[in-house]
Amino acid sequence: MSNEVNSTPEEAVSTSPHATNFIRNIIEEDLASGKHTTVVTRFPPEPNGYLHIGHAKAICLDFGLAKDYGGRCHLRMDDTNPEKEDNEYINSIQQDVKWLGFDWGENMFFASSYFEQLYQFAEELIRKGKAYVDDSSAEEIRAARGTLTEPGQESPYRNRSVEENLDLFRRMRAGEFEDGSRVLRAKIDMAHPNIVMRDPTLYRIRRKAHARTGNAWVIYPMYDFTHCLSDSIEGITHSLCTLEFENNRPLYDWVLEQLDRPCRPRQIEFARLNLESTIVSKRKLLQLVRDHHVNGWDDPRMPTLAGMRRRGYTPESIRLFCERIGISKAETWIAWSEFEKAVRDDLNPKVPRVMGVLRPLKVIIDNYPEDKTEYFEAPYFPDDPPKMGERQVPFTKEIYIEQDDFMEEPIPKFFRLAPGKEVRLRRAYIVKCVGVDKDENGNITAVHCTYDPESRGGNPADGRKIKGTLHWVSAKDSLKAEVRLYDRLFAAEHPACTEGVDFIDELNPNSLEVLSEARVEASMANTQAGDRFQFERQGYFMADQDSTADHLIFNRIVTLKDTWAKINKK
Ligand code: ATP
Ligand code: MG
Repeated sequence: MSNEVNSTPEEAVSTSPHATNFIRNIIEEDLASGKHTTVVTRFPPEPNGYLHIGHAKAICLDFGLAKDYGGRCHLRMDDTNPEKEDNEYINSIQQDVKWLGFDWGENMFFASSYFEQLYQFAEELIRKGKAYVDDSSAEEIRAARGTLTEPGQESPYRNRSVEENLDLFRRMRAGEFEDGSRVLRAKIDMAHPNIVMRDPTLYRIRRKAHARTGNAWVIYPMYDFTHCLSDSIEGITHSLCTLEFENNRPLYDWVLEQLDRPCRPRQIEFARLNLESTIVSKRKLLQLVRDHHVNGWDDPRMPTLAGMRRRGYTPESIRLFCERIGISKAETWIAWSEFEKAVRDDLNPKVPRVMGVLRPLKVIIDNYPEDKTEYFEAPYFPDDPPKMGERQVPFTKEIYIEQDDFMEEPIPKFFRLAPGKEVRLRRAYIVKCVGVDKDENGNITAVHCTYDPESRGGNPADGRKIKGTLHWVSAKDSLKAEVRLYDRLFAAEHPACTEGVDFIDELNPNSLEVLSEARVEASMANTQAGDRFQFERQGYFMADQDSTADHLIFNRIVTLKDTWAKINKK
């Protein structure tokens, strides 16, 4: 059973009813001028880790624009680095893009499929006198690169003949040379003000089996050479990437120009997403997984799409968030509360309300008959009862409420249960606390109340004012459940940004709390993994993928309010 009331995928997938941005403006100009008749974008992840919320921003942009302008978006694995790439990542990337609600159709590509073509392009550059084999070591090349204020120095191998270069490059491919002993470099300008343009490396020798091409290659093309040519081969019109590639744009254009490519995609940069209290770096996320700081890539605290899916966030809420943050050229940090707001706004109209008690405290209603059970009708959507109908909630002599809804010595303005005080039990009765039971250590084991039989449904017959309303479950009818509460993964607002501080030390030690004695109402006996509920007053929850009828497990997706803001202001 899926209990969710869904919005249509169509209305939700669109990036927005056209909140305009500078990229849209460029595309619209290109369409108006006739430069392009279709829009073709691509999302090009390197399969060296799981996708995270930052990638979601790029995915929503790349796929969203293509969809809005009736074009297409390619999913391309940028798999040119055999060292870190893996089929596990390739599979997870596809699963995550689909889950987010996007479809590449026939257009799934791998940069590695172009290895032969890329090699031929490299030979063409050599023949045009635009590339050379350099025997310098990586260290020597680095040392000769110059600085922002100093030009670089030309390599002693820079002026080799075309024949010699071709011969050496072919022998590089044939595996005649050691790893790292030679590279192929573009011949551009060692005094160029942009360091990227100072004869960048195009190919390196690396004897390492590749996830898709196996041992067919011992030389691998570099990102800057591969990316622009892959875009061009696929007929991409607008190649969107994050700001750190701005300096690489002249090289992107240079390669396509030297090779006289008919298709010259336009690279456009936008600011990456930085989300407070978490990190969006695959390398750092990998470290968290590998060193067991979290329980895998899909740990519900992780900002990976796999983790977010497991936690219970919906793809719609992630798309809504990406739409709200928009696209710009300015790098900023987005508050976690903004993400959670999008999650609440998405879940609120979709998720049924039920009652669950996270930290149970027994309440015994002294004047209620021992064996009696009354049923109270409770709509799943109190504000819109017809939406999903209602269930019958059993009420009995013994119930559970939250431990923190009772105080033996109440602080001022505590409107919940306390000795001599009255509260409303949601939809049931008004009860008054008449005493407590304690164990030998003085801990409260149960609270005694009397109920007002004239208050059926929770409304007193005499109209007296009752301030507090508590959620509750019947002790004998409720079901035991494990509840996992999550908090920010990092205690630091901007993790991995402070000089001299290891980001591991910035983790929030209390990011996970497991409550194994929670109780949920009887109506939830048929809960399936993936079902979402709002536990009234406690937040939105999803049954974990490991949840079964015998062992219910709920992940808290998000609280109902931004409690973190309050805590920080104290
Ligand atoms: P990481 O630093 O996590 O390894 P990356 O940029 O190296 O990220 P890629 O797999 O190369 O990861 O990214 C694929 C696409 O996603 C690129 O176009 C990249 O610009 C974009 N992207 C990556 N991180 C973000 C982010 N935080 N915000 C927006 N887009 C991002
Ligand atoms: Mg990258």
